Amino acid sequence: MVFLWRIFRKLCEEVSNKEESTYSLTGRRVVELGYFLDALKDFLHHDDKGRLGCTFHNVQVCGEIRKGLNSGLKLKCAMCNFEKTVWTNDTKSEIMDVNKAATIGIMEIGFSNLQDLTAILNIPPMSNTLFQKEQNIIADAWAKTAAREMELAIEEEKRLAKERGDVEWMLMGMPS
Ligand SMILES: [Zn+2]
Repeated sequence: MVFLWRIFRKLCEEVSNKEESTYSLTGRRVVELGYFLDALKDFLHHDDKGRLGCTFHNVQVCGEIRKGLNSGLKLKCAMCNFEKTVWTNDTKSEIMDVNKAATIGIMEIGFSNLQDLTAILNIPPMSNTLFQKEQNIIADAWAKTAAREMELAIEEEKRLAKERGDVEWMLMGMPS
């Protein structure tokens, strides 16, 4: 049994030695470190019993899915062929997503500056289409927040006017 296992391991090693990563990961990325390290640990848990002998040395990057400043790295274990995409930033986080955060950060100084900055840092850029989309979502959210703030201010003014018995406000039909 041990002998067969050794043959199996040897075959696996030969396969893994033949396979080379077909994707060259170059440049820098924006990485949510804690999340990314946990996701890598999760990836290595595919052999949590240690039966296959998979280690970090067997991990290969086979491709990359780019969503603006977020990158999904297609990882593969060369020992057992297990595959999973690991994102550099949490796509399901409650915290603001990296593209939205970058859009808010750059809205004041313009999109072309973000392009220049990411180019200098050798980080793959966010597309103009995604920037516009994020900007529209943010502008819409801000407009809704501003309208709500205004409604609350009017409500408060009404309440104070009522307390004061302010006739002018009552004539304007403002107090309810
Ligand atoms: Zn494996």
